[in-house]
Amino acid sequence: MAATVESNGKLVRNCYRCTKCRELFYCTDFDYDKAKTACCPGTNTHVQGTAELMVNDTGSGEKGWKFCKYCAALYYASSATAGTCVGGGSHVAVEVEFTLTKVSSGSDSSNSWAKCGKCACLYQRGGGTANCAKGASHEAASTDSYTVNVVPKS
Ligand SMILES: [Zn+2]
Ligand SMILES: [Zn+2]
Ligand SMILES: [Zn+2]
Repeated sequence: MAATVESNGKLVRNCYRCTKCRELFYCTDFDYDKAKTACCPGTNTHVQGTAELMVNDTGSGEKGWKFCKYCAALYYASSATAGTCVGGGSHVAVEVEFTLTKVSSGSDSSNSWAKCGKCACLYQRGGGTANCAKGASHEAASTDSYTVNVVPKS
């Protein structure tokens, strides 16, 4: 079963950064059917980082971001065949579209997210490995960054 996106006012919690591919992925259904969902370009399944992240659609910014049913990553769905998924085909979109706030690059970690020009996924800039489905590491499509919020600890 593919991951489902349950958006509440287009605010989606239960997102994490993968420590292998650095992509932002959705992981409510992460614990089952690992053969089919949440595949990682860095082999097997995504490994969640510590902080829970939140994708918040504020209605302004860049439209066209969707989650992939197969790899669970948030990617820029500029066409039906946009991007490259794990295994080489295109991502398969969940039909909920998000608008992400675009900001100029900053050192703030909430502003360090970039669009990969090869696989179209949103990933966090920084050191270390960042496995891309197109091979080698992700490469930023531009210097633009996108805002992703960290869920405050309650
Ligand atoms: Zn991953
Ligand atoms: Zn995908
Ligand atoms: Zn990539």
